[in-house]
Amino acid sequence: MKRIILLGASGSIGTQTLDIIAKYPQEFLLVGFSVGKQASKAEDILDRFPSVRAVCFQEKDAAYAFKDDHEELEVLYGDSGLVDLIQENEADMVVNALVGFVGLVPTIKALEANRIVATANKESLVVGGKLINDLLDQGKGKIIPIDSEHVGVAKCLAEAEERKIAKIKITASGGALRDYPLEKLDEVTPEQALAHPNWTMGKKITIDCATMMNKGFELIEACVLFRRKMDDFSILMHRESQMHACVEYTNGRLLCDISSPDMHGPIEYALFEGQVEFEIKHVRSLKKLKNLHFFDFDPSRYPCVELAKKAYELGGNATAILNAANEIAVNAFLDGQIAFTDIAYLVEEALSDIPLIGEPTLEDLIFADTMTRSYCLERIRLAK
Ligand code: NAD
Ligand code: MG
Repeated sequence: MKRIILLGASGSIGTQTLDIIAKYPQEFLLVGFSVGKQASKAEDILDRFPSVRAVCFQEKDAAYAFKDDHEELEVLYGDSGLVDLIQENEADMVVNALVGFVGLVPTIKALEANRIVATANKESLVVGGKLINDLLDQGKGKIIPIDSEHVGVAKCLAEAEERKIAKIKITASGGALRDYPLEKLDEVTPEQALAHPNWTMGKKITIDCATMMNKGFELIEACVLFRRKMDDFSILMHRESQMHACVEYTNGRLLCDISSPDMHGPIEYALFEGQVEFEIKHVRSLKKLKNLHFFDFDPSRYPCVELAKKAYELGGNATAILNAANEIAVNAFLDGQIAFTDIAYLVEEALSDIPLIGEPTLEDLIFADTMTRSYCLERIRLAK
């Protein structure tokens, strides 16, 4: 039985991970979990999974209130609580379903503790990819992606003949504003940007899909996870989100990962560490996939993709700056403080103004994150 600690159990990926754990009671045992501000969900999760021994809350008050009713459990709180949850409880796998930079330290600590980390938290791979790979190189732990595109890439690569590969493509729906007039993008409301055509997800990633920063992040994630160059990958626009990734051979033939847009599949794949049956479709050309629609990526509509690529190329702490500026900008847009188009401007400014350093430690990355957040908040305040 695989003992699992789930970080971010109250979110979109967290909830679906609980479904998979419940679906295979002979395979998985939930021993600990964290919730964010939706503290009330902890009680329901505990009812469903009596095997839980430890719970972490984002806020201290919620933790104290919960502890009153659950003397028998270890109850933790805050960022340090997430780390204690991992370090103090025996588990085989940590599932990281947190959103944002807060996921980085738990990922690092889980690897240091030699755990298997199944991660949906792309921000930790974007910001700390080098540190994560260094730990893996030292034989510490294991990383398994949950993101559908990376699960798709892993499946395609498992079947592909390396010497024939020309490109690895990850697909993108284009998000909620893909057909919106370019000249009016500065007027869109959070509600419009949150109306994703194919997926129901947390708010932050849904906005990242509308700007396609999400796809920029996924390109970086792919380089980190598969230890390949940025040039090995490209974006394929695909309206229906039925195909998640494909490998294109030099002769034009393709190996495609096709499945409905439902994260339960990729989560199940990750929890079983890829030891599941799957089918890769071989086609002579994309035109053979009759009901699916593909089109070219338009960089002018999605400046965030170029910014992500630039940050990755700059290296060092640049992806920490990219990520922090994006987190602040997305929050400010959701709060109605800045326009949709300001998200890319703010990220661009942060990348050119915040000092870059070459070989950041974890502390350096945390510093870059903090500094970038202050910088962006100040820019937003001054612009009001
Ligand atoms: P979400 O907002 O629905 O859930 C995030 C979880 O993190 C919640 O449990 C929340 O309470 C917790 N959390 C947030 N901030 C916290 C903090 N400071 N301290 C402690 N807990 C905190 O987000 P989501 O859509 O589930 O996304 C989670 C991650 O998975 C993101 O990195 C996202 O990019 C990635 N992802 C999501 C999907 C999807 O379908 N939702 C698909 C692919 C990748
Ligand atoms: Mg994805």
